[in-house]
Amino acid sequence: MKEKIELIKIELNKDLENINTLSEINELKVKYNGKKGLISELSSMMGSLEIEEKKEFGKILNELKNESNELIENKKNILEEIELNNKLKNECLDITLPSTKIANGSLHPLNRVINEIQDIFISMGYDVVEGPEIEEDLYCFEKLNLPKDHPARDAQDTFYINSELLLRTQTSGVQARTMESNKEKSPIRIICPGKVYRRDYDDATHSHQFMQLEALVVDKNISVANLKGTLEEVARKLFGNDREIRLRPSFFPFTEPSFEIDVTCFKCGKEGCSICKNTGWIEILGSGQVHPNVLRSCGYDPEVYTGFAIGMGIERIAMLKYGITDIRNFYINDLRFLNDFNRIDGGEVYETK
Ligand SMILES: [Zn+2]
Repeated sequence: MKEKIELIKIELNKDLENINTLSEINELKVKYNGKKGLISELSSMMGSLEIEEKKEFGKILNELKNESNELIENKKNILEEIELNNKLKNECLDITLPSTKIANGSLHPLNRVINEIQDIFISMGYDVVEGPEIEEDLYCFEKLNLPKDHPARDAQDTFYINSELLLRTQTSGVQARTMESNKEKSPIRIICPGKVYRRDYDDATHSHQFMQLEALVVDKNISVANLKGTLEEVARKLFGNDREIRLRPSFFPFTEPSFEIDVTCFKCGKEGCSICKNTGWIEILGSGQVHPNVLRSCGYDPEVYTGFAIGMGIERIAMLKYGITDIRNFYINDLRFLNDFNRIDGGEVYETK
């Protein structure tokens, strides 16, 4: 018996030396300490022994059992530590490697200009209102003093869905809708930015789709002085503090009187340069006092209420501000063009491959 125990010890030590994985540890446990393992086998042989021998042998067997358990457990701990170290080694990150560039993208120049103009008007207490791009003839034209046979409609030919529905040629429909829905006649101060459409041939300065931003103020006692003061503030914030503006008489069906607004050239002051075509002045937008017919058709009494409206093309403002010479650049998504605006923010630049 004692010989057998010694043999088991030798075999166990040999086995422990030879195993390298945790799964082998489990096999070892079964082999020595399992129900049918080598040590259990010896226990079952005890039945044939004398009582004294049984006592002595039982003690030795117990020691063997404890010893083997301890040895196997120790080996298991060592293997677990090795495995963990390997895992840490393989899964570590090398933070000294150069990172993969991820393009952030940036705001489109048109959105940049819209945001800037919106901020100016919001700082003066205006709300931003949006309306449908598929508009009714009623709101796009008729309520704005442009009845169906009005010759000024020729300049605003558009894409028609049917005889009463069209792609809006101006965001003015939003003004008409705002006035009409304002039953309590509270003061209106809104801007409406958005896409508009006209039947036009695309070239460097024309596009069948472009963006407008209109402003409308309606209240009691709103005069041309209010309009001029507002325009001066907008022009200075957009083009520089020392800009002057001038009002030139013009014609729009929905305003009376109507004005084209020029601003002194931001490049040359008033000296004359290629941007201002040597005049010292640059035309930036159209405006005027809201026509009494428009007020009336939107539910206002023109004897009590007055107002002014401003309309500007976002593309024109952006072209002036950023020195862009072809309107089509805004729509063709050429990354070489858009990246120039990315750099304004110091953002990541797209790398085209
Ligand atoms: Zn100039």
